[in-house]
Amino acid sequence: MPEPSFVVAPPPIVSLPVVGLDARFPVRRVFCVGRNYAAHAREMGHDPDREPPFFFQKNAGDVVGPGDIAYPPLTADLHHEVELVVAIGRGGRDIAIGAALGHVYGYAVGLDLTRRDVQADLKKAGRPWETAKAFAESAPVGAIQPAAAIGHPSAGRLTAKVDGALRQDGDIADMIWNVPEVIAHLSRWFVLEAGDLIFTGTPAGVGELQRGNVVEAEIETIGALKVRIV
Ligand code: MN
Repeated sequence: MPEPSFVVAPPPIVSLPVVGLDARFPVRRVFCVGRNYAAHAREMGHDPDREPPFFFQKNAGDVVGPGDIAYPPLTADLHHEVELVVAIGRGGRDIAIGAALGHVYGYAVGLDLTRRDVQADLKKAGRPWETAKAFAESAPVGAIQPAAAIGHPSAGRLTAKVDGALRQDGDIADMIWNVPEVIAHLSRWFVLEAGDLIFTGTPAGVGELQRGNVVEAEIETIGALKVRIV
């Protein structure tokens, strides 16, 4: 087959570094879980009963590595949410909980940056969340640790510091829906594909960022990610 030609330039493949390898992880889609830690659900004014997990998406092009992040327009309340990010290595639909970890390539630390003021207005109006969640540079992610190297951590401290001050301090063991359960639920709604990332929710302590703030996100055994809001 001849190479296709395109009427506009095709998008570049967004990718993340993999610890210990030269090859990179290509990002296909970005899924996020809402309210997956009870204390965060409470701080957002919700009952953390174990209702089924719900999902929203960001765009692959919103994913960036460590470094400077431009404060987004049309918000006065940008928030940090430190999260465990699951990198899918093998796709599937209706994945069983017991088989879910076999679909995971690896893990990383990420920040689900959020226009909180916009999100609050959208919630009130019953409107979709994209303008609050899926903006440029809204999904910084660190290097991916292959599960082949570190296994599948089910516990580990996750923290977010802003200018050195501890803001979020949780443990991935405290997720309401754990990684296999999240994959099982998500794969009922969407056919998962290799390259998909899943942000698995944030613990309590989310808060406001200002231009000039340095955010250090870290998950024990998985890694760290440092960004500066400019
Ligand atoms: Mn989040």
